Amino acid sequence: MSLSNGRPYLAIPGPSVMPDAVIRAMMRPAPNIYEGELHDVTASLIPDLKRVAGTQGHVAIYIGNGHAVWEAALSNVLSRGDRVLVPANGRFGLGWADMARGLHLDVTLLDHGQEITVDPARIQEALIADKDHSIKAVALVQVDTSTGIRNDIHAVRRAIDAAGHPALLMVDCIASLGCDEYRMDDWGADVTIAASQKGLMTPPGLGFVWFNDRAAHARKTADLASRYWDWTPRANPVQYYEYFDGTAPTHHLYALRAALDILFAEGLDNVWTRHSVLARMVWTAVEAWGNGGQMRLNMTDPAYRSHSVTSIYLGGNDADRLRHWCEQQTGVTLGIGLGREPTSAWFRIGHMGHVNAHMVMGVLGAIDAGLTSLKIPHGTGALTAAAQVMAR
Ligand SMILES: *Cc1c(COP(=O)(O)O)cnc(C)c1O
Repeated sequence: MSLSNGRPYLAIPGPSVMPDAVIRAMMRPAPNIYEGELHDVTASLIPDLKRVAGTQGHVAIYIGNGHAVWEAALSNVLSRGDRVLVPANGRFGLGWADMARGLHLDVTLLDHGQEITVDPARIQEALIADKDHSIKAVALVQVDTSTGIRNDIHAVRRAIDAAGHPALLMVDCIASLGCDEYRMDDWGADVTIAASQKGLMTPPGLGFVWFNDRAAHARKTADLASRYWDWTPRANPVQYYEYFDGTAPTHHLYALRAALDILFAEGLDNVWTRHSVLARMVWTAVEAWGNGGQMRLNMTDPAYRSHSVTSIYLGGNDADRLRHWCEQQTGVTLGIGLGREPTSAWFRIGHMGHVNAHMVMGVLGAIDAGLTSLKIPHGTGALTAAAQVMAR
């Protein structure tokens, strides 16, 4: 006996739930790639992609995942042996640092562990100590998807400026764009990256790099930029073909068009507010379960919690047991405890993209039932508390 038949909910932090309109947009024969509608659709994506990142700068679209644009972003502005400062608080910050090392960059890691937000004062100190300005870029995530921590990007920019340091600010918004507030130009980011499969509600396979004129200037001397990853033709194509350096990712482009239409129909401010309320429903439920058990949120300070993904400690191997129970019995797939030891003690809930209040209540209800069925000690009242957040 299982209650899982019906529409599944993949409540992991990407790939996220795809709207039906996005799926329908892909249900079509291959279009003419030489002229016509596909060209118009692609041209229409460019201003909307800039709008979603809050920039008047440039954007390049890559056929690749987040890892691809990690590499694309670094290689377009840096040269072999350049120093990069990477403040990290989770697996994804560390992953970007690792990608940088693989590109023969000289990485200075400011490891903050896994439970605190990035400290702008530490960044400022490191930059002040760099008297000859050998650090060329500060690269960090807005949200680390493994720990659910959100970093204050504007504060990092202020720290760089307070140090009087010319380093570029590069931001990974893969887990947060279209979920958490982000304003590339207002907050002074020089390079921003994202991928299609999280807040942008499109299948994995597209990566985006936004850059301003300062970063475009750095491109001129960056010797890591190899021909395929060079953003110059992609961001300012003379011929349609140059957008993608080859065949266009046809169906992804239609899907992305549908997804951006959905985002702008709701309005970006409303999208950000919806994510913040849904996140608070999750946090409130976890706090109630924790009153009477071991469950706790990874990030204690709500000001620095992601609105798109929550990392939760449960202890022992109970997180693994709970994940399996929820999937088999209720059709909800929870995220694994990525990057935390032991991984069996941790799980994550993805509440990003095309997600609303009844879906989050459904996830919380599944977890509540799982805790009871598996006899995992927990406090009561989680669902009522979450519903009260929604009601307010
Ligand atoms: C998902 C994610 C990545 C990696 O993206 P892939 O598409 O899996 O390569 C990088 N950074 C962050 C913050 C992410 O959430």
